Amino acid sequence: MAPEYDVVIVGAGLAGLRAAQLLQLAGKHVLVLEARERVGGRTHSVPFAGGTIDLGARWIGPKQRRIVALAESLQLAKREQPEHGASAWKIGAASGRARGLTPQIPFMQMLSMLNATIRMEWTARGVPKHAPWQAARAAEWDKRSVADFLQNHAGDGLGHAMLSASMRVLFAAEPRDISLLHALFYIHSGAGLQHIMSVRGGAQHWWFPEGAGAIAQRLARDLNVQLSEPVRAITASASQLEVTSARGRYVCRRVIVALPPVLTQEIQFSPKLPALRQQLAQSTPMGAVIKCFVQYPAPFWRDAGLSGEAFSDGPAGLVMDGTHPERSAGSLIVFILGDQARHYSTRPEERKRAVIAALGELFGAPALSPNDYHDHDWCSEAYSRGCYSGIFGPGVLSSCGPALREPTSGIHWAGTETAIEHEGYMEGALESAERAAAEVLKQLS
Ligand code: FAD
Repeated sequence: MAPEYDVVIVGAGLAGLRAAQLLQLAGKHVLVLEARERVGGRTHSVPFAGGTIDLGARWIGPKQRRIVALAESLQLAKREQPEHGASAWKIGAASGRARGLTPQIPFMQMLSMLNATIRMEWTARGVPKHAPWQAARAAEWDKRSVADFLQNHAGDGLGHAMLSASMRVLFAAEPRDISLLHALFYIHSGAGLQHIMSVRGGAQHWWFPEGAGAIAQRLARDLNVQLSEPVRAITASASQLEVTSARGRYVCRRVIVALPPVLTQEIQFSPKLPALRQQLAQSTPMGAVIKCFVQYPAPFWRDAGLSGEAFSDGPAGLVMDGTHPERSAGSLIVFILGDQARHYSTRPEERKRAVIAALGELFGAPALSPNDYHDHDWCSEAYSRGCYSGIFGPGVLSSCGPALREPTSGIHWAGTETAIEHEGYMEGALESAERAAAEVLKQLS
């Protein structure tokens, strides 16, 4: 059978859809197969309390030029994330306030924290973004976890505990489970710790009132996307590939698989994938996040000089203000992260109580009386298996990293986990799409 399509793309997340758009613009005949009954993958916006909430990705920053440009081209309005006032924190029995990224904690604890942060930021700059496994000390860094690093450089008090909580926020994973090399790469890839963690000028600068999910929906309007078609097998011969989904078979000249590596294990590849690619897929589990939305009659925290931001080592790992500027209601977005997310994943009622109680501790008694609540557990989504992205534990990046983007038997790899810049973000998904589309165009020309 002659190829019906130039390219079949597996996955209609931002990476798959953007690759399809670029290939279609280049005159190629493209089909996108998506397992879910919707497009967008880890972006998903739904109505809640008279507005729209982002169950998945929400924020973008000015250094993320691809997503900024794409949203503009799709005529998607963006708003600045509000950040007036102090943030709150609670670590163990200690609690307090912070201005920007600087918590008010005892001087010596602050010193330990700064020491570890600066060391991490500087070390990250020496990790090559395109090939972290080629860093001069890659093997040494990849043997250690982020927890080991903090043990050595952040002292053993409050500063240490705060940095552990910050790392949990960054990766949605426990510091013990994250390779130091991966963390350093992620920091360099994301334009530095300061940028990753900041609102103003950083990665949380803007959000989309229509929801980030609108990006995928608008992209998909002009593309050939078939929903509810989980791909089960990809068989390559010398001249073509056959892609088998739950509902059909499609013959094409090239395939782009735009999934997190761990999900590629659900696909039967023939011939088998190279051992390194298989090992990569087996060794990069997703982070763990439950995202919660708590609605109040008004943003009461602002009256107390608080921004609505908070972080803790409890169930409310990260809190951000989700209030719509044109509505009177106040809204807090809470992330349950890492071990806490795993614990609460099977306990929906318990987690609602725990989140509201944690907000009470951070923002005072008014937080105990919300008028609406909703949450979304990404760990239980079959076609994500967790979020925000794939986690490289010790030993994985230096050994399996070279397989991340290496095409094999007509198959090219996309998805934010394969990105060089802003890996783990929507921006990274778009960057991976540009690279994979360029690879395919070169092969088809
Ligand atoms: P995905 O979106 O995962 O796309 C993969 C697609 O493949 C999915 O649609 C999936 O259903 C489909 N699929 C899976 N298996 C198969 C199969 N066998 N056959 C066919 N299709 C299949 N990023 C930011 O930039 N800013 C943020 O504020 C932010 N916050 C986040 C908060 C949360 C709670 C989460 C979950 C993510 C967040 N992210 C954020 C990360 C961001 O969402 C991702 O980096 C990005 O959306 C990944 O896009 P992707 O296309 O690479 O992968």
